[in-house]
Amino acid sequence: MEPVLIGIYGGTFDPIHYGHLRVAEELADAIRFDQFFFVPAGEPRLRDSPGGSKHHRARMISLSIQNSTRFLLDEREIKRPGVSTSVTSLREYHAEYGGRAVLCFIMGADTFLRIHYWHCWRELFQLCHLIIVERPGSMRLINRSDLPQKIQIECASRWTSDPNDLACQFSGMIYTAQTTLLDISATKIRDLVAAGKSIRYLLPDITADYIKTHDLYLGENEFR
Ligand code: ATP
Repeated sequence: MEPVLIGIYGGTFDPIHYGHLRVAEELADAIRFDQFFFVPAGEPRLRDSPGGSKHHRARMISLSIQNSTRFLLDEREIKRPGVSTSVTSLREYHAEYGGRAVLCFIMGADTFLRIHYWHCWRELFQLCHLIIVERPGSMRLINRSDLPQKIQIECASRWTSDPNDLACQFSGMIYTAQTTLLDISATKIRDLVAAGKSIRYLLPDITADYIKTHDLYLGENEFR
């Protein structure tokens, strides 16, 4: 049975922006994914409720990737009742692909630093590879001795800088990818909107237009 290499980019995407999209594009160049899914979280477990409703966040992803043949939106987490956990989704993918899926879960270094707070975090390494990208303002991945000790111990033998390694093993590797550093965050975009300032060129025009049309992010959590 041929393995199916799947990229999974999870996040709140409140809203999706060029920081996410450029990472995805560069990883899709570096790694021959058979499929690549953006998977917006429903109710995130480890952060405040998003300002944009599930529907709006999914719609903004859909608009942002509409001209790409590489990316798909997977709404499983926003359709699932209750709090989102990535482990649940990863287990589901394996069930759906009948054991053929090699899952690569993508995250920024800031997210990885807190991975030991995730639900069943050690199980992640049984279910998927991790692809970690640097993020301006976050820890440099080269400084692994600065990672929380629990993460250092769990991950000690998992690191690779060669993306080809990911297709050779079912799960458990951590690939540190060098992608373009873009100092863009969803928080910055929400704050700019709330302050009445422009968000152009931080995210696709069509997504910026959607935010304006639907009056998103004008006040705290008003569109949940
Ligand atoms: P917020 O500012 O609301 O926390 P965010 O911009 O960090 O949002 P998320 O949806 O929380 O966006 O991010 C999803 C994933 O994408 C996370 O793993 C995060 O680290 C990563 N990510 C977000 N922005 C960037 C960026 N500019 N460069 C690299 N990775 C990023």
